[in-house]
Amino acid sequence: MDFSRIDWRILGCSAAIPAPGQYPSAQSLRVGGTLMLIDCGEGTQIRIREVGLRGATFDVILISHLHGDHVFGLPGLMSSWTLQGRTKPLVVIGPSGLEAYLRGVNASTQGNWSYPVEFRVAEPGIVYQNDDVVVRSQALKHRIETWGYRIDEVVAPRKVCYDLAVAAGLEHADFRSLQLGRDAVTRGGRVVPNSEVTTEGRSGFSMAYLSDTSFVPELAGFARDVEFLYHESTYLERHADLAHKTGHSTAGEAASLARLAGAKRLVLGHFSQRYGRLDDFAAEALAQVQIPIAVGVSGLNPLTAFVDQ
Ligand SMILES: [Zn+2]
Repeated sequence: MDFSRIDWRILGCSAAIPAPGQYPSAQSLRVGGTLMLIDCGEGTQIRIREVGLRGATFDVILISHLHGDHVFGLPGLMSSWTLQGRTKPLVVIGPSGLEAYLRGVNASTQGNWSYPVEFRVAEPGIVYQNDDVVVRSQALKHRIETWGYRIDEVVAPRKVCYDLAVAAGLEHADFRSLQLGRDAVTRGGRVVPNSEVTTEGRSGFSMAYLSDTSFVPELAGFARDVEFLYHESTYLERHADLAHKTGHSTAGEAASLARLAGAKRLVLGHFSQRYGRLDDFAAEALAQVQIPIAVGVSGLNPLTAFVDQ
């Protein structure tokens, strides 16, 4: 894996009430030149500064659902961007009602945005794509309309062997076509088979963000073979009844989903504040799946968290 094009930060990972050091859900993810924000709990704009992303221009915001611990930070963040004079267009994707919520805050506070905002209502399938990423959404099972997201890096299927290609008489202008798997023709008219001057391309970064949700085995298809699965684990097994009643998951259930999906690594998060220590979350998850597991505390960079494993 080549993660040099990826920058992923957990900005907040707690459920419900914010507290010093415990911020509600928000993650930033840069893939190539595309910077995304996934959920935006209260305090997110402070966390963005604290992790060194001050001044960064987000291209896309993905919102899972309209519970406050996932969206109370969004009106403030979008307002601050106006104060900073942002002009770059923004795409905001989420459940129906998200646009009305944000426009309602603007109406009540006489706010506006200094930049174009395109709202897209999430639906099953591809909701955003460009040269860097393909973003898909999928309905989750929670108490209100909730969407999970899957982000796949766009990578060329073939890698050009520079020396071989040049020796075969090809030029830089031919490389893009070669990366896409096509044969090339030299200036002299000789056909160079793609397989003679390329090797298989690297696999791309992929992650699925599933929060908030009950354990739904069918979601494994949506998260199939992802490099990273972020799955909420609000509760431990001893509070499984509570998890089922409130549309949440236990750590063991999150791990079961990772196993069913064939995920390569698991990041847990959205922990209930009833737990003083988070050690048991990883232990309960490890009992269900033998893959690297990270406990998603605020400030974590999941890529480096897994570097030694
Ligand atoms: Zn919720």
